[in-house]
Amino acid sequence: MQNMVILGATGSIGASTLSVISANPDAYRVYALVANASVDKMLALCLTHRPQVAHMVDSQAALTLHAKLPPELNIKVSSGEDELIALVTATEVDTVMAAIVGAAGLVPTLAAVKAGKRVLLANKEALVMSGELFIEATKASGATLLPVDSEHNAIFQCLPEEVQANLGRCDLAASGISHILLTGSGGPFLTTELASLASMTPAQACKHPNWSMGPKISVDSATMMNKGLEFIEARWLFNTQKDQLKVVIHPQSVIHSMVQYRDGSVIAQMGNPDMRTPIAHCMSYPQRIRSGVEPLDFFKVGQLSFCEPDFNRFPCLALAIAACAQGQEATTVLNAANEIAVEAFLQGQIGFTHIAKVNEACLSSVPKRAMTSIDDIIALDAQTRIYAREQLAKFA
Ligand code: NAD
Ligand code: MG
Repeated sequence: MQNMVILGATGSIGASTLSVISANPDAYRVYALVANASVDKMLALCLTHRPQVAHMVDSQAALTLHAKLPPELNIKVSSGEDELIALVTATEVDTVMAAIVGAAGLVPTLAAVKAGKRVLLANKEALVMSGELFIEATKASGATLLPVDSEHNAIFQCLPEEVQANLGRCDLAASGISHILLTGSGGPFLTTELASLASMTPAQACKHPNWSMGPKISVDSATMMNKGLEFIEARWLFNTQKDQLKVVIHPQSVIHSMVQYRDGSVIAQMGNPDMRTPIAHCMSYPQRIRSGVEPLDFFKVGQLSFCEPDFNRFPCLALAIAACAQGQEATTVLNAANEIAVEAFLQGQIGFTHIAKVNEACLSSVPKRAMTSIDDIIALDAQTRIYAREQLAKFA
């Protein structure tokens, strides 16, 4: 029986994780649920899953939740950063699903890593921000890190055991691997006329052709910043060297990524686009459990197609690849800028094509200092957010 904490329980990954847990009640128990402020969603989850603890980041939301929960359920309600750290590092906890969106997930995810937990990583922004420090912390504590992001999970499944056991410090070439092929659908605007991109609305940007996801990652998929963040995520997880990592557009999202070997072999992981598959894989690795996902029907799929990414259409992807080559400071700046730009776009403050402009302005102008601690990373993230907010005025 694994005791699990779900960080980001009220979100899209949270829901998929709870669905996999419900399908395998003999093997997994919900120890704690963590969310930001959605009281009603959290209340419903508590009534169904009966965790020991429900943690709300927003303290007012915690009070409201406490008042609404039937006392006989005996669910402890908590709030506050220290309480959250205590929760993820508690001795009762075996596994932490890290599925808070954005930089807000960094501190609790890293705490779980430092405590040597089995960490299922969906929160790619945490790794993009802290790269080397995150990998070092995993090494130091002996935590088990498993990638939930469907592409990274696919790559993981296509890699030999010696690489799987050595995430972050593996040597791909020594294992006969020539390339990692990171696939992406190209999102809702893959074939939209370039001239009309500027007028695309949040509703259009969030209408992903294959995946159902939270609003931030949906917009990131439309700009392909998501693939850029994943490029950086893959760089850290698989210790890729220059030119070992390539992005391939594959509009059907049936192949979730591939590994190309020296002898000409290419191993791909396939499945229906449903996050319950990679989540179930991470929960049960090296075993396999039921996820509730329909088996892939190749006769319905019919065709698989591929093309190269167009950096003119997806400038955010080019920015992320460039930032990855520049290093840790650049990727922290880009991630923070993008969070501010996406939030502003979702609130109707700036246009779709302004997202890349805000990101580019921050990447070229925010001074980058060497970072040796999490505090340095958080400071650079905060400084970038201030600069990015100033940029918004130019595009409003
Ligand atoms: P979502 O918006 O649906 O859910 C976000 C969750 O994070 C919610 O539970 C919310 O309460 C919580 N949250 C937000 N701000 C918070 C804060 N300040 N402190 C604590 N909790 C906070 O997002 P999602 O689509 O589930 O994505 C979650 C993460 O997983 C993201 O990093 C995303 O990139 C990654 N991911 C998602 C998918 C997907 O299919 N949805 C796929 C791969 C990776
Ligand atoms: Mg992904």
